[in-house]
Amino acid sequence: MSKANDHYDLETIRHSAAHLMAQAVKQLYPETKVTIGPVIEDGFYYDFFREKPFVSEDLEKIEARMKEIAAGDQKIVRQELPREDALKLFDSMNESFKKEIIEGIDSDQALSVYTQGEFTDLCRGPHVGSTRDIKSFKLLHTSAAYWRGDERNAVLQRIYGTAWRTDKELRQYLKRLEEAKKRDHRKLGKELDLFSVTDEIGPGLILWHPKGARIRGLIENFWKKEHYKNGYEMVYSPHAAKVDLWKTSGHMSFYKENIFSPMDIEGKEYVMKPMNCPFHIQIFQSHLRSYRDLPIRFGEFGTVYRYERSGVLHGLLRVRGFTQDDAHLFCRPSQIEEEIVKVLGLILFVLKAFGFEEYKVYLSTQPEKFVGAQDDWEKATHALKTALKKTGLAYEIDPGEGVFYGPKIDIKIKDSLNRYWQVSTVQVDFNLPQRFNISYIEENGQRQQPIMIHRALMGSLERFFGCLIEHYAGAFPLWLAPTQVILLPITDNQLPYVEELANRLEKEGVRVEKDLRNEKIGFKIREAQLQKIPYMIVLGEKEVETKTLAVRKRRSKETRTMDLSSFLEEMKVQVREKTIDCL
Ligand SMILES: [Zn+2]
Ligand SMILES: [Zn+2]
Repeated sequence: MSKANDHYDLETIRHSAAHLMAQAVKQLYPETKVTIGPVIEDGFYYDFFREKPFVSEDLEKIEARMKEIAAGDQKIVRQELPREDALKLFDSMNESFKKEIIEGIDSDQALSVYTQGEFTDLCRGPHVGSTRDIKSFKLLHTSAAYWRGDERNAVLQRIYGTAWRTDKELRQYLKRLEEAKKRDHRKLGKELDLFSVTDEIGPGLILWHPKGARIRGLIENFWKKEHYKNGYEMVYSPHAAKVDLWKTSGHMSFYKENIFSPMDIEGKEYVMKPMNCPFHIQIFQSHLRSYRDLPIRFGEFGTVYRYERSGVLHGLLRVRGFTQDDAHLFCRPSQIEEEIVKVLGLILFVLKAFGFEEYKVYLSTQPEKFVGAQDDWEKATHALKTALKKTGLAYEIDPGEGVFYGPKIDIKIKDSLNRYWQVSTVQVDFNLPQRFNISYIEENGQRQQPIMIHRALMGSLERFFGCLIEHYAGAFPLWLAPTQVILLPITDNQLPYVEELANRLEKEGVRVEKDLRNEKIGFKIREAQLQKIPYMIVLGEKEVETKTLAVRKRRSKETRTMDLSSFLEEMKVQVREKTIDCL
């Protein structure tokens, strides 16, 4: 690698690679029109207008042409053009999408274009100095996209690529990508029979299969137990409610495009709930509350429905129906800080149980459009900051990114492939208490409006589950594994012993399966390994005679002979300590 591109940042290199790709595409397929080519995480894409989708042979050709152009050392030259001239230029090139972009720019300020060889693109820049500075890149895959992301517009062909400073960085990235593919939760979800999405039910609506449901149940039980220990009460609320409720909450005006279309029930309009907050508020309102009752903490696995374009749906990560591990805290203004400290403590405790110990934390502050008094905003932001400090969490400020009703903290977790996932959120809210006019009686006998805290630790159970599958590559730790132990008899002679053991393990609460098929033991072991079952117990003549177990862990070739009680003890220790997969 030359030192030439050391001084360019990755974004500049990647965006220049997008231009390079567009240039190669125009050379190879001159009928194609260019649209936009932004930088994304780890790479870039470019959207082209063209009838025929690109196939993988096209990608190979385009990549080869990119290498040729890059080696040709074409200088990349910036030029400023008056808006009118830019319009004429792209019109003369028949680039109607670029023309449309320019027409959409109000100001009359000069626009910049970048030229390399025969190729010119409208662009703000910056770019590298020469095509030779783009060295370590690879085209990855294609997909369809819509012009301006709107499915009523023209269908575009998108090509994704990645670019790095050095070949070594590129190789490392491609290796990570390979590993991520193996861990793709959609692939593992099928192989391990955890969940599915069917066309008959509709996109973005998840079916949890028995094994997925077992894991979800374990997560829910753990979550509930910890919440009861921390002073929460559990509630349940319906999946639909009258439109009027969402008018009061403001969702019909601020959030309408995400709500499923209304249905008519006896002349009244109902919608599927996009949020759980108004329900918990109604439960709060069902009694006269005193300052002595506060804080009140209502938790719920609340299933919500939100309209998302079918184009953005993705496995368990972007869905239309999902369950939030939601809770709403109603507190006195003086209690905010302490409550947030407690919430952060609970978040860290819960995330740690799933093996997440590294986070990125963001504090999002007052946006331009907001409700509530300035004084309240300052107090709430201060409370969030102090709480973060007390918890010892390093954080970044995301200026102006708070919700219109209050500031918030967002937490992203780092998984075993060093990827970050947005999960937890803690939001202070002055708006809903006011909209629903809720109050409690203060010490002085006056009515006072409580402050609400919205918070979720895992965010959406669906998304969190997707993240867990990829984090563990489907090899769940013992406490979460849907099947913890599988019994593998060598011949039918061991069947009575298998039954006896299965009964005893089940009585101890162990999740156990039996493989009674008439197959070779080596085959059964391989299958159990593919199912990523933590413990395999092989049972032959010798084990029956001595009343022992030949125990094998999923990633080990070693077999240990144990009696049942020491095996149970070993399991219990691991479950209690929530040992992350060290099997
Ligand atoms: Zn550009
Ligand atoms: Zn809420």
